[in-house]
Amino acid sequence: MPKRILIVGGGYVGLYTALRLQRGLRPGEAEVTVVNPENYMVYRPLLPEVASGTLEPRHAVVPLRAVLRKARFVSGALTGLDTVRATATVRPMAGPELELDYDELVLAVGATSKLLPVPGLAEHGIGFNSLAEAAHLRDHVLRQLEIASATPDPKLRRSALTFVFVGGGYTGVEAIAELQDMAVDVLEGYPEIDRSEMRWVLVEAMDRILGTVSADLAELATTELTARGIDIRTGTLLESAENRVMQLSDGTKLPADTLVWVAGTRPQPILGELGLPVDERGRLVVDDTMRVDGHANIWSAGDCAAVPDPEKGGTCPPTAQHAVRQAQQLGENLLLTLRGRAGKPFRYNSRGEFVTLGKNKAVGEVLGHKVDGVLAWTLRRAYYATQIPTWNRTVRVLGDWAVGMPFGHDVVNFGSREEPRGAFRQAAETK
Ligand SMILES: Cc1cc2nc3c(=O)[nH]c(=O)nc-3n(C[C@H](O)[C@H](O)[C@H](O)COP(=O)(O)OP(=O)(O)OC[C@H]3O[C@@H](n4cnc5c(N)ncnc54)[C@H](O)[C@@H]3O)c2cc1C
Repeated sequence: MPKRILIVGGGYVGLYTALRLQRGLRPGEAEVTVVNPENYMVYRPLLPEVASGTLEPRHAVVPLRAVLRKARFVSGALTGLDTVRATATVRPMAGPELELDYDELVLAVGATSKLLPVPGLAEHGIGFNSLAEAAHLRDHVLRQLEIASATPDPKLRRSALTFVFVGGGYTGVEAIAELQDMAVDVLEGYPEIDRSEMRWVLVEAMDRILGTVSADLAELATTELTARGIDIRTGTLLESAENRVMQLSDGTKLPADTLVWVAGTRPQPILGELGLPVDERGRLVVDDTMRVDGHANIWSAGDCAAVPDPEKGGTCPPTAQHAVRQAQQLGENLLLTLRGRAGKPFRYNSRGEFVTLGKNKAVGEVLGHKVDGVLAWTLRRAYYATQIPTWNRTVRVLGDWAVGMPFGHDVVNFGSREEPRGAFRQAAETK
């Protein structure tokens, strides 16, 4: 009887674990099922480029059904777990819940935005974790330019042209940098708006941005962003966003229609409801082979697991680089386990990192060397071009990048996609 391997979550860990199994399983050895709410894996490091319109949203994802040809795919979300019966409960897109039995279970559900109790944040803020959020923000920023260009009302113009991002980690820095770069680039098409009217503010509680990269790189990024007019407020908190007025802890009040909350993530809350051991941050507690403590047949890695860091001690940071390497080892360990052998510990030394800051601009560190400007930007692109699974996706991404080189950012705002039935409803109301 083939063993049943159930992988919950089709992100970095889910996809790369399944790919490793697909390559390594012998015929009849095991059946692999992957459960994910969407039928694609989001290549999250490319989301800032989706937000600036440099990449088509569809090109920044990997279609799971197309790449996991030997696995079964179920579009749904995990809602419960019975570890005694070895059964996971999954809510599909429609219809009654499914019960999926497993011999080996991989929990790879990743993380979501972590909100703080800031008044007005839940009502007016938006995160930057998903494809929908990144694509929406592009349309939203272009919409704000349209609003400002069409009204002489100074109050409306100020709110429309003020963009506040809270959280100066790499997600926040990349998001504000790419979107501001796009807005400045398209501004020549808006003669009614002067560049000095646009206000881009990055609020960070710590005393510097990019807390997880070296201080030199953070300094380089700060210099670049400040020179472009981005107002970086370190040691500052967002205290309130009520009525769309951003009240900062340094006393500043900014009426702003845009509030992007990128001040941290937390593991998916469902993990705390499964009866499995979690740490103080809500991550599953696993050993160095990525097996969940006390459960011989449950495994986890990536943003939702506290995987011991072999390089620096403590636990691994929530990065795609770590998630991919963990997944490859996790897939290997599943193969070893199926064959009655012991799993091996996760080992990895990070070789570098990049932070994109807009077209032709980035900072990074490769094999201990600091790089910036066009070189860092080109190396970053080369790295991702070689990492995206399948030629199909690589070619699409390279195509978008090639088109973007000679031409500026596209100014078309497809915000109406968010209410596709609007015109039809109106027609029905006025018939
Ligand atoms: C904007 C942004 C930029 C980033 N840039 C970089 C970068 O430049 N470099 C880098 O190294 N890292 C980067 N990261 C971090 C990196 O993307 C994550 O560390 C990585 O995605 C973690 O992989 P994962 O598999 O744990 O989670 P994910 O890739 O998030 O996958 C989790 C999957 O689980 C699914 N899921 C959630 N709940 C359920 C459920 N109940 N049932 C079933 N499935 C569920 C989700 O839909 C998702 O598909 C970035 C992250 C973001 C948000």
